[in-house]
Amino acid sequence: MDIILLGPPGAGKGTQAGRLEDEHGMIQLSTGDMLRAAVKAGTEVGLKAKALMEAGELVPDEVVSGIIGDRLDELGPEQGVIFDGYPRTAAQATALDEILSARGRSLDHVIELVVDEDALVARITGRFTCGKCGEGYHDTFKQPAKEGICDVCGSSEFKRRPDDTEETVRTRMQEYRGKTAPILPIYETRGIVRKVDGMGSMAQVNDEIEAALAL
Ligand code: AMP
Repeated sequence: MDIILLGPPGAGKGTQAGRLEDEHGMIQLSTGDMLRAAVKAGTEVGLKAKALMEAGELVPDEVVSGIIGDRLDELGPEQGVIFDGYPRTAAQATALDEILSARGRSLDHVIELVVDEDALVARITGRFTCGKCGEGYHDTFKQPAKEGICDVCGSSEFKRRPDDTEETVRTRMQEYRGKTAPILPIYETRGIVRKVDGMGSMAQVNDEIEAALAL
């Protein structure tokens, strides 16, 4: 099964993709994670992406479609994937169709996480992760049980994304509204969009996604 998780920044795509990986053995393909790794490693892609990401603007379509194609080539044909943060433009949606059909794959579902945008700014600006194992936390909604210590691995190193500032989040929202939301009709005409209320608890959202995938 190949699915897209679609929704604005902070809608919970990464969290839910992680759950689907655990529960269904699917693989999360997050272009944001791949680009952050490329920036950290100082690769050519990373150098192209760094300033755009810091500004909350989109990285060129051919760059992200290229890394998605390369990553898919490393996976077996029966390995189900979750596209998280990709596609984000009409050109990427077209590229994804070509990338999938060239590999004998097709999309089964597009899960649209429907969220209240005002709540998202608070969600995003408060989030941080364990620097060692990547567990996600939040200043207001999910502090570690013991202050300053990761619940999962015991590390005391935490990090925040440099683009999780209020100003950058607003630019990222504008990019979503202007370029990403308009691709939904492409998938609606194919009858594969499942709307899920993204404002519930993580478990509620997960249950709704599971129900949608069973359709
Ligand atoms: P994310 O982790 O999905 O919020 O992505 C973080 C940043 O990476 C975005 O604000 C963009 O600058 C860049 N990015 C991630 N995925 C894409 C994509 N599919 N197309 C263009 N830029 C992307």
